[in-house]
Amino acid sequence: MRVLKFGGTSVGSAERMKEVAALINDGHQKIVVLSAMSGTTNSLVEIADNLYKQDKDGANELISTLEKKYEEEVNTLYASDEFKQKGLELVRSHFEFIKSFTIDMFTVFEEKAILAQGELMSTAMFYFYLQENGIDSALLPALDYMRIDKNNEPDASYIAENLKIALEAQGDKGIYITQGYICRNAFGEIDNLQRGGSDYSASLIGAAGMADEIQIWTDIDGMHNNDPRYVENTKSISELSFDEAAELAYFGAKILHPTSVLPAKLANIPVRLLNTMEPKAPGTLISSHQQKGRMAAVAAKDGITAIKIKSGRMLLAYGFLRKVFEIFESYKTPIDMITTSEVGVSVTIDDDKNLMEIVDDLKKYGTVDVDHDQVIVCVVGDLVADAKGYAHRILDAVKDVPIRMISYGGSNYNISMLINANDKKKALNLLSEKLFN
Ligand code: ADP
Ligand code: ASP
Ligand code: MG
Repeated sequence: MRVLKFGGTSVGSAERMKEVAALINDGHQKIVVLSAMSGTTNSLVEIADNLYKQDKDGANELISTLEKKYEEEVNTLYASDEFKQKGLELVRSHFEFIKSFTIDMFTVFEEKAILAQGELMSTAMFYFYLQENGIDSALLPALDYMRIDKNNEPDASYIAENLKIALEAQGDKGIYITQGYICRNAFGEIDNLQRGGSDYSASLIGAAGMADEIQIWTDIDGMHNNDPRYVENTKSISELSFDEAAELAYFGAKILHPTSVLPAKLANIPVRLLNTMEPKAPGTLISSHQQKGRMAAVAAKDGITAIKIKSGRMLLAYGFLRKVFEIFESYKTPIDMITTSEVGVSVTIDDDKNLMEIVDDLKKYGTVDVDHDQVIVCVVGDLVADAKGYAHRILDAVKDVPIRMISYGGSNYNISMLINANDKKKALNLLSEKLFN
């Protein structure tokens, strides 16, 4: 069985949904994971923000605009009056549900329920389209099998067991349609796998069902060697190892959700990144095979805060780093990068929710400096220590960019640098120019 995930742009209009239907109707049995239509989740986030602020008029206006868009798409998607009617009723019921939250109190539970509506609508609309066209298919409700535990980590055994039950309940079908992104949490409430999480759904489903391939269909022909939003003339990479892809996703390559590679890697299931607008393009194959001796790509992760702790007490002392790390651990704040000297340590975080408390606690151990608006730029490839010259070439490429931290040797696959957000575009372009052109 294969798992194919189509992102927001790929199902962003009635026309695109029809193209996806044609593309998947090839006689092979598959699970198809869909995102919400592009722009929908952003609109739902905006609606929720208005409701938090108790701006009911603002929320109602956004809801009406979105509902109109869906009514138009429904009218274009279906050919028969019967299905147009079914589609309109479907959309109406979801929007009635969204509107019901404009009346009462609004909390994080209601927000999560609203955010789930995009994927619930796109999958039901798509399933009706397949039905209208006589394509053998079934709808698998992700809320019946996709679950995170109390640490917000996917509950792999629950997912595998319940996915199997959900598939069996539908019997033998050619195409199973399911929602990306949405799940239940440890308390059984509606939750999600964070923005961009449909990729994660696909790889969790692939791993749970031991798929022989996971395909991520999007609006570009695979992983490019730099971020195409900031650099011109980037090129698609034909092959990446799981480790390289995981580093790129984690360090900002938006084409993949940050943690989506891990389940596929653990189950050793190849992942193919493909372009819905250009289905014949080879895209990128992610597998356990590691190409030797090359720099593969550059990515950048925004919204980073750097914290430096300087202390005379670190000199020749053991236990200092443990105390520092324990502070971050107590606030459940992951550290991305770390560099040390004999008198201090610098770390970066991307979650600054508890920054003030963390800094207060760190001050017990020395002086603390904080730099906001930082970016981690990361070069990924086969960069093992006995391969000479990579660090030199990379640093030479960015010699005119001020660098706050450098990290090399943490893995065999990346060199990371921390720079000011203002220098990001320049650094990405210099790296492309000097490393790949
Ligand atoms: P989807 O809605 O299909 O999930 P996304 O917008 O999440 O699609 O991801 C695809 C986008 O990722 C591309 O349109 C591209 O702008 C962006 N992107 C950022 N870095 C890269 C990269 N290194 N390679 C390819 N695409 C990238
Ligand atoms: N619809 C969700 C989002 O926009 C999930 C996804 O598209 O992957 O974040
Ligand atoms: Mg995405």
